Amino acid sequence: MTPSSDVRAHRAEGAGIGVERQTVSRRAILRKALALSGCSLFSSVLAAAAYAQDAGSGPAIAALPVRTGPRPGAWVVLLGTRGGPGLEVNRAQTASAVVVDGQPYLIDCGYGALRQMVASNVGYLQTSTIFFTHLHDDHTGDLAALLSYQWTNGKTSATDAYGPYGTARMVAAAVDFFRANVEIRTADEGRTVDVDKQFHGHDVAAADAPVPMFRDERVNVTGIENTHYPARSKANMPHRSLALRVDTEDRSIVFAGDTAYSSNVVKLARGADLFVCEVVDPTVLQQAQERAKEAAAAGNPNNIFRHVADTHCSPQDVARMAAEAGVKTVVLNHQVAAPSQGTIAYPATAFIQGMRPTFGGEVIVGQDLMVL
Ligand SMILES: [Zn+2]
Ligand SMILES: [Zn+2]
Repeated sequence: MTPSSDVRAHRAEGAGIGVERQTVSRRAILRKALALSGCSLFSSVLAAAAYAQDAGSGPAIAALPVRTGPRPGAWVVLLGTRGGPGLEVNRAQTASAVVVDGQPYLIDCGYGALRQMVASNVGYLQTSTIFFTHLHDDHTGDLAALLSYQWTNGKTSATDAYGPYGTARMVAAAVDFFRANVEIRTADEGRTVDVDKQFHGHDVAAADAPVPMFRDERVNVTGIENTHYPARSKANMPHRSLALRVDTEDRSIVFAGDTAYSSNVVKLARGADLFVCEVVDPTVLQQAQERAKEAAAAGNPNNIFRHVADTHCSPQDVARMAAEAGVKTVVLNHQVAAPSQGTIAYPATAFIQGMRPTFGGEVIVGQDLMVL
């Protein structure tokens, strides 16, 4: 099998997971994730765990080839698919990695992202480029932990983060958060890496046309402003929210970020292979609209319910953007479902049906650690 046919075979396998079976075995995800990178500190531990699980499943799985190098091509790892600032043990907050020829690029870094990088074998020490769609804490919560453990656990090269207004200040503040640790270990352990020269944040302009954000030999990343922040809020703050497009040699992947329907996102996503988009259960949106009216009547017009109702996507909104942009595959992340529906059994079928018939293409309801 040639390297390229190997890639196609595995990609087809990965892309079929969320469509045909909405529950994915943890072992299958882990096995796929293990193949992404051969360089994590934890790969041997996880490999041992995976093969221990496989051993109980029969001889066919025990014959899996051992991969020693990075898998070629571009892959998306859904590190966290939970939408919003709530916390739970079964899902991490929003974060994804695009891994290109074994080199990871991180998109958002919500709470749990670092642990999921370890679990999925996306090397956190090899991650040198981070992108933020926006600076809500369900997209940034693990940044200080990630940078701190990069420094402590031996990364010596630079890490750069790119995002909307406030990113540079946030990275500097994250470094300040663990400065005591740096001072202690520098004095006590003879550390020599200068933390202020290692970590850098970059503010990127938000516009109604794609803005170049980053380019290297593997990826070309552009951003465009989405509709997560309404005009009434933007009038009172400099903060903006972005959708991101990552183009690699073999794939184009768009992360819509948190957003309501956005013609800019459609523009950015035109013809993309993968359209990774947030989604909110319509029941939650309806409840939010009702509670927003109640809160406004009680004298608080800018309440969180109005935020949820006005600045996020129903399945129909996702479908409309996907259809207008002509994307091949939609991947739902940042999923918000009604509490009564529990924290594990998300309404995968409802999300997919809510997108029909507007979008007739492939829909994958993302799960944590899924590899696409
Ligand atoms: Zn969010
Ligand atoms: Zn947000």
